[in-house]
Amino acid sequence: MIVVMQSGCAKEDVDHVVGLIRELGLTDHVIVGTDRTVVAAIGDKRGVDMSSLERSPMVDRIVPILAPYKVASREVKKEASVISLGNGSSVGGDKVAVIAGPCSVENETQLLAAATAVKAAGAIGLRGGAFKPRTNPYDFQGLGEAGLKLLAKARSETGLAIVTEVMSIDQVDLVAEYADVLQIGTRNMHNFNLLIAAGRTKKPVMLKRGWSATLQEFLLAAEYVMSEGNQDVILCERGIRTHESYVRNTLPLAIIPAIKRESHLPIVIDPSQGTGHAYMVPAMSRAAIAAGADGLLIEVHPDPEHAMTDGAQSITPKGFTELMGEARAIAAAVGRTI
Ligand code: PEP
Ligand code: MN
Repeated sequence: MIVVMQSGCAKEDVDHVVGLIRELGLTDHVIVGTDRTVVAAIGDKRGVDMSSLERSPMVDRIVPILAPYKVASREVKKEASVISLGNGSSVGGDKVAVIAGPCSVENETQLLAAATAVKAAGAIGLRGGAFKPRTNPYDFQGLGEAGLKLLAKARSETGLAIVTEVMSIDQVDLVAEYADVLQIGTRNMHNFNLLIAAGRTKKPVMLKRGWSATLQEFLLAAEYVMSEGNQDVILCERGIRTHESYVRNTLPLAIIPAIKRESHLPIVIDPSQGTGHAYMVPAMSRAAIAAGADGLLIEVHPDPEHAMTDGAQSITPKGFTELMGEARAIAAAVGRTI
């Protein structure tokens, strides 16, 4: 349920409500909005007497949260969340955030070429996997910590925020040391212990939708992160599995308005995993922005033919620069900037 505070209440009034919620054995999440502060009280409310809360000074009303996800839901927070990436840039709000870079970090030359090119074209973040979740155990698994070090170098040379995947609980501290955003991949969306571990860090989390997850399961996964106290979740649609083999995944852009209705969290679109084909990436990027996406996650490689992973869906720096020009025009048409 949500305890809606009266407008103009003081911090002490909110602290008092938080104390009462804790006394009732529930968990509190304070959400400060532009108009009102609300306190979400989460937990099993069977047999809990709410009258102390109702009588509390400066409490306006108590409303149940109907959605199964709570802190992630629009019911709790009406305004769209803007997630700060720590380098002065953010995801959410009027600006469309573009994060681009190679699928995997391969070597310094490759990474810095990609990083400088995407920065020059207007990206705010650099993506690149150091730990790669590969379907085949004999395929390239990523450079591990050496890859993280290269990402840190690319950040210091370009100022781009680093977005990189964490695959397991034992990697969380290490990846969090180097990354600005922890990416949780599609194969791990249901790894609840990893979601909890990421929720205990102070780093924003980019959560990819499981390729067979429903929207509700996706938001419940976000709720796992948020209920640990980390509100900074960026949702990423990267395509789902359907019978269609023409594309690597089917990219359901209808999730954008659906997420906007259900949640205050920003949603970015990954047209690279979402199609599997480089030639489709610009069109789906334009479509995503037109549909209201808060950002794009795009695979860019200086030499896609020789990429160690996902070359077929990687665009070149030149292709990315062209894409950004088109993306700016679409963004302007829907009242946003890049
Ligand atoms: C990736 O971004 O390269 C990746 C492995 O993504 P996903 O988890 O969506 O497959
Ligand atoms: Mn990839």
